[in-house]
Amino acid sequence: MISFGSEERDLFCVDYRLTSKCNYNCWYCTDMHNNDRKDDQFEIKGLQNLIKALNRDIRFFLYGGEPTIHPDFLYAVEGILDALERNSILEIQTNLSVKKEKFQFFCDRINGHRKTRPVFFLTSYHYTECDFEDFFNNCVIANRYKMLDQIAVMYQDDYRTDIIKNLKILRKIFPKVKTELLPLLCGSVKENSPRPYEDIDKFYNCPEALNLSKNDFSFIDRLRVNYCDGTHSYVSSAYLWKNRQNSFNGMLCDVGKERIVIDSNGDCYRCFNQIFDETQKAEHNIFSKKECLDFLQNMKSITCTYDKCFFDFNHYRYY
Ligand code: SF4
Repeated sequence: MISFGSEERDLFCVDYRLTSKCNYNCWYCTDMHNNDRKDDQFEIKGLQNLIKALNRDIRFFLYGGEPTIHPDFLYAVEGILDALERNSILEIQTNLSVKKEKFQFFCDRINGHRKTRPVFFLTSYHYTECDFEDFFNNCVIANRYKMLDQIAVMYQDDYRTDIIKNLKILRKIFPKVKTELLPLLCGSVKENSPRPYEDIDKFYNCPEALNLSKNDFSFIDRLRVNYCDGTHSYVSSAYLWKNRQNSFNGMLCDVGKERIVIDSNGDCYRCFNQIFDETQKAEHNIFSKKECLDFLQNMKSITCTYDKCFFDFNHYRYY
């Protein structure tokens, strides 16, 4: 392989981790949330300065932990919406665990504030942690406001029958929403994480799961691989996970030009893996205006130092 990536270019991405805390304790996410860390109180100014300095349309991804449990969740959403340029979009990751009445209140406030800028919830159904009916009811609310964009149904072989039944219900009731059965991949950058690949192997051994997923984002052959002899092929994210080919260690990666990943304390990184890597130092902090401008002027491809890349496959990699 000499280069790899998606041919579709995305908007510039800003990922902001509002909190490291989560009210669930999914085994596949053990080191991607941290309930002991003290989250700084949310401060919008640094983010607004950054968005202004970027001066372009952005795909802003608000995530956690679980962002809706942060006391400043609505204040953050409204502040971000105020700062975003016209064609930007705001995506909010959530497990939809918030109580129905409170979620209705959130949707109402966000709907009143979004004006022309689209806001979408990217939801995930973690069946080991929640009741399907509660999750479903919140999907109905988000869908009513046209803010339900995606439902990731986390898959685990032991619970297959229930999960597939629930996926079918979601697809029937929300035919326009992207519903995806996802192997419970551990996104960890640490080698000692529990069962990092087991679920994808189970997935490929289950004809029904594969059949239900063949047209889903992670299973479509949309990523182009260019080989030294001039030939190329297309593969899916799931193919890379299954075949343990999701390592780009040593390659240059355009993530450094196309994305900023920001932690709740304002520390900035260039890729998803870095924010979860305790050995990685932040490149700058959004509360320092000068550091921030220097960083933006120096956005460039970076050399990947990780052995696993799980999510950001769109960015181009090359030697
Ligand atoms: S881990 Fe980060 S640097 Fe490495 S390929 Fe993935 S996105 Fe790029």
